Parts: sequence; structure tokens; C-alpha cells
Amino acid sequence: MAEVQTSPNPVPMKERLTIPRQGMPEQDPVERAGNFLEVNLGFTPELAVKEAQRCIECKKPKCIDGCPVTINIPEFIQLVCAEDFLGAADKIKEDNSLPAVCGRVCPQEEQCEATCVIGKRVEPVAIGRLERFVADYAQEHGNGSTEYQPPAPSGQKVAIVGSGPAGLAAASDLIKEGHEVTVFEALHEFGGVLVYGIPEFRLPKAILRKEVADLEKMGVKFVKNFIVGRTQTIHELLQEEGFDAVFLGLGAGLPRFMNIPGENLNGVYSANEFLTRSNLMRAYEFPKYDTPLHQPKNAIVVGGGNTAMDAVRTSKRLGAKNATIVYRRSEVEMPARNEEIHHAKEEGIVFNNLVNPIEFIGDENDNVKAAKCLRMELGEPDESGRRRPVPIEGSEFIIEADLVVIAVGNGSNPLIAQTTPEIETNKWGNIVADEDGLTSMEGVYAGGDIVTGGATVILAMGAGRKSAAAMNEYLKAKVGSRP
Ligand code: FAD
Ligand code: SF4
Repeated sequence: MAEVQTSPNPVPMKERLTIPRQGMPEQDPVERAGNFLEVNLGFTPELAVKEAQRCIECKKPKCIDGCPVTINIPEFIQLVCAEDFLGAADKIKEDNSLPAVCGRVCPQEEQCEATCVIGKRVEPVAIGRLERFVADYAQEHGNGSTEYQPPAPSGQKVAIVGSGPAGLAAASDLIKEGHEVTVFEALHEFGGVLVYGIPEFRLPKAILRKEVADLEKMGVKFVKNFIVGRTQTIHELLQEEGFDAVFLGLGAGLPRFMNIPGENLNGVYSANEFLTRSNLMRAYEFPKYDTPLHQPKNAIVVGGGNTAMDAVRTSKRLGAKNATIVYRRSEVEMPARNEEIHHAKEEGIVFNNLVNPIEFIGDENDNVKAAKCLRMELGEPDESGRRRPVPIEGSEFIIEADLVVIAVGNGSNPLIAQTTPEIETNKWGNIVADEDGLTSMEGVYAGGDIVTGGATVILAMGAGRKSAAAMNEYLKAKVGSRP
């Protein structure tokens, strides 16, 4: 009997696994190492439909279990098969307010694609590339198939502190409940790490601005250059400005250093400062923009995470002849996404693994000129589960460097803890919050990196959404209890 086709996918089930995973079109590695344009160019509609046709429409779709915000992945993929790209974007937006961002930066290989059922036999469906395609398509074609219908106003006001992914996700859900939502941001642009940390060649700022503009169109108010704890305190927002609840999405933006000699030399930066100068202050377009950044010959970046990859690839684009990662473990333990490591290698980044700097050496003008390093070997696993790096005695050697970027992690900014002591923090300075994001202060919720320490965009968004749901219940109960 012939197979009955009820799905929009015309490819018979047994042939779907024979379709190869569609590759992402990319800028040429040599060319892109000299510019800040986006590396990945995105699927064409033809590539997207072909990739979507690989999905076998599982009865128990494990991909959803792998997604921290439980996007209905099979349904959006079937809409791509039907070439209803705007409908597919609407489907994703039911659960994720920043799909063009997540389609670019989420570690899908550890999430939805890691659990995709066909991944046991062939390469998983390229869910992230499809998400990016439909989100970009929607941005270019009027954003979704349906007009946003604002709900009836609840009469309640919510303050969101911080415009990173946690804050933006919370704002999106709370505005849909009819609350008046204001986002307060310390910097002069909105997006948190998405705007000041992740470089243009990985996440163009225009994409993010459009996502923020969508929230603005939905009624979210955005206030920049406003440091909660300095411009106004949380108490003032609640007691004088009439806010009924506050969400803290402050991130983990306080750079950590190595505490070794020479870290205060000229030319030694924290990754935070280096990337902020380049991304937010557009130092790579100096003198058109007035923030300079030293043009390096020999750049070294210490660390093995996404931040280190972003910094080293930025240094290459700023003109470094030699741009080198110095990492104390081996590549297997590197926390950076595989795609970023792969792209970095293609662009000519040198990986000096199992190496740790012990001192930075300066010239007579206190400009850094070299790093004294030790070679390492791997010992037993430490508390992170990764094998502990152990120094090899007598293995000192020198790497020339006129730019050093330290990318060994971030801590949390102590400002809120100092100005609002009733909000409990733990020994790392992270805000203590329960499952729903509720802090030790009534009506104040928190989520994202400020609670977990440095994590991922999608986990921050998930936390923002969880808090938004709990805040909504809190606000409803508050109205109900009014005389
Ligand atoms: P943030 O994004 O840090 O945003 C917090 C915002 O709050 C900031 O804008 C800050 O200015 C503002 N703020 C802080 N204090 C105040 C105050 N007192 N008043 C007003 N505003 C305040 N994750 C991925 O999933 N994929 C990646 O590829 C990836 N790459 C990364 C690359 C870099 C360079 C970095 C640094 C991180 C990367 N991450 C990546 C991690 C990810 O970006 C973070 O986990 C995520 O942004 C955390 O979101 P958040 O909303 O909690 O905080
Ligand atoms: Fe499709 Fe993979 Fe999800 Fe199955 S698990 S529905 S194959 S994306």
C-alpha cells in the first residue's frame, strides 16, 4: 500500500535519513579574519526547506526536551517544510522572544540537537540554523504573520533592571500580561552581553536592535544610562516611583584577574574591557568613533571559553599578526562552543594549550612586551569534573606579546548587594533566589547570570521567563488583596 502523506513534508519517511545535513554558508576564512562582518551567512529558503525535510516528525520529539525554553521544534520545522516561514517564526516566538539571537549563539549541539532522535544514526537536524533562518526571514518580512494585540492594562508597574537576555525575556512575558514594563539599563545600549560582549562578526548589532525595537512596539519602555543602586535604589523604585515588582537581570559583568605580576601593565586588558571597547564603543572603527584600542602585533588571550574565542578573533581582526590562545587545560576541556574553536582555527588563531602565564613582563614605558608561561599537564579531575592542570616544573618559557587579554571568567557586581542589604547573596556575590526567582526581598525577583554565575543566553532567558510567570502570579494576588 502507498504511504499516506499527512504532513507537509513530501519526502517519504525512509528517504529522510539519506538527506545530508545542510552546511551553513560562510564568509571565506582569510577574508573574514580582516573584517567584522558576520561569519555565518545563513540558510537560503531552499537550504532551509531541504534541512527541514530531514526531520522524521517523532511521536516523542526529544529535541523539545533538550531546549531550555521548550520551543515546539517539530511544529516549527513542519511549517518550514510547508514554506510558511512567518508561521514558523510565530511558533518559535510563543516560547522564545529572541530567536534571531538564539539561532546564532545558542549551544544547540549540547541542547536540542544533542537530543534530536536522528542524531543517533546520522547528523541531527540543524535546528539552530533553521531557527536563525525563520527569525531572519520574519525580521525581513514584517515580523510574523499576526499583528500583536495588546492585552487589557493590569494597572501594575514592573521594573526590569538590566537589558540582557534575562531582562528582555522577562519584559516580553510581563508586557503580554498587561503590566506596564520599564527596563532600566546602566549602559547606553540595550542587550547586555549580546551588545557589549559578543562581537559583530557573530551577532550583528542590527539584529539585536530589531529584537529590542519589537519589544518597544509592544509597549516596553527602555531607559538607558540608569544605574540602579546609583541613579536610584530598589527601595526608591518601589516606594517612590510606584513600581509593584522588580526583576534583577544584572548579569555577571565584573572581570576576574589572575593576580599575577604585570597585570597592571599597559596593553593588558580584561576581556570585558577589551570587548566593550571594540563592540560597544566601536574601537575597530577608530577614529570615526573616538575610543581607541591598541593595534597589536602579537596578541595573546588567556582562557578557553566563548569570551576568549571572541577576544582572540577580535584581536586578529584588529590587525594582530599572531593571535594566540593560551589555555591551561587541553582542547577537550575547553568550554567554548566547537563552532567557535573551529572558526578560530580557520582564521589562523594559534592554540597554545596546556600553558599558563605566571607573569607579564613590561618594557621601560610599562607597556607589556611578553608573558612568562609554564607548561602544564593534566592531573585528576577537580570539583568541575575537568582534569586539573598541574604545572611542569622548570618548563618556563616566554611568549612575546604587546596585547594581553585576560578571559578567565567574571564575577557579579556588588552594587545591589551594597545598596540593598536585605537582598541575600552567596559567597560568590550571586543573588540567592528560589526556583521562581524570588529573592529574600518581597516583590523582588532575579535571574540569569547574577543568580547562576556566567552561563548561557538561553538559560538566562529561561530564568527571566520563570520569574516573569511568578511575578505575574504575585501581581495578581497583590491586586486581589487590595481593599
Ligand atoms: P547580561 O547579558 O550580562 O546583562 C546584564 C545587563 O544588566 C547588562 O547590560 C548590564 O549593564 C546591566 N546592569 C548590571 N547592573 C545594573 C544596574 N545596577 N543597573 C542597571 N543595569 C545594570 N552564551 C551563549 O549562550 N552563547 C554564546 O555564544 C555566548 N558567548 C559569550 C561571549 C562573551 C564575550 C560573554 C561575556 C558571554 C557569552 N555568553 C554566551 C554568555 C551569555 O552572554 C550570558 O550568559 C548572558 O548574556 C547572561 O544574560 P543576563 O541577562 O543574565 O546578563
Ligand atoms: Fe525532528 Fe529531531 Fe525533533 Fe525528531 S527529535 S522531531 S527528528 S528535530
